[in-house]
Amino acid sequence: MPQASINIDLDTLTEDIDGETRIIRRDELRATTYRRVIPRFLELLDRHGLKATFFVIGRDAVDHHDVLANIAHSGHELANHTMTHPKQFVHLDDRAIVREIRDCDRALKSIAGRPIVGFRAPGYTVSLRVIRALREAGYRYDSSLNSSLCYYAIKTVFKAVRLRDRDYLSTQRLLEVFAPRTPYRMAADSLSRRDNGQAFIEIPISVIPYVSYPFVTALLLHFGAAPSLQALKMLIARRRFVNCELHINEFTDRGDIMGEDGGFYLTRQYVRIDLAQRMKYFDRLLGAIRADCDVTLLRDVAV
Ligand SMILES: [Zn+2]
Repeated sequence: MPQASINIDLDTLTEDIDGETRIIRRDELRATTYRRVIPRFLELLDRHGLKATFFVIGRDAVDHHDVLANIAHSGHELANHTMTHPKQFVHLDDRAIVREIRDCDRALKSIAGRPIVGFRAPGYTVSLRVIRALREAGYRYDSSLNSSLCYYAIKTVFKAVRLRDRDYLSTQRLLEVFAPRTPYRMAADSLSRRDNGQAFIEIPISVIPYVSYPFVTALLLHFGAAPSLQALKMLIARRRFVNCELHINEFTDRGDIMGEDGGFYLTRQYVRIDLAQRMKYFDRLLGAIRADCDVTLLRDVAV
């Protein structure tokens, strides 16, 4: 049976909101994600008997320690998504990169009661400097590379259109779009080269064969369940590792952000589709992954 992972980035509403809401305090927005939205996802996992990997922003651990402890103690994995989620993470200097990784690591380790071994960068963008910092911190894997040509093109256009926000998220270099598409031991001197003598593993985001579109539900949800299920079949037929990535804001309901006057971007796309409809989508997709794959935590891939 092919292996698969369900993993989710806990980027709270503060990361996606770009306008007016009835909630103006950032800690309140984060609390909405942690207290109202995350339980929906946990309930979905429980219903399917699945364990997932949660990429957590370390800053949120202070206020929501109990939610994260509950997640970790239920057998899910907590992984590092930096301390403050800087959009230009790869362009920070070495000390700041190390600090972002280390501070999040400390916050999560004390909650999980075990070493944190996995990392995902904001915006699917890493560099050799980031990977070096991860190796030195004792990490076993990174799961940031998204070698989808479509995604690269979409992001480049998106950044060009949003002129006033040109540096919204950094972009991986085009060269790295040609990295391996299944988990691989990463060479010391190249992000996109395999070297079986190395211990550190890259677990790239899955890319749908032929169309080179990322297997990221935030980018698939709008097409309904059929294309996602078809993409899953294609990945399985090619015996690819299915690295299925979700974002917690996909589980946000309109009521959670009542009073919103249209000033959202990523989140606005999700809330155009009723939460009930989105839950049906996830039910079908997770059900299919559960039926056809051996679902594992990312830390168990990187051994
Ligand atoms: Zn993120």
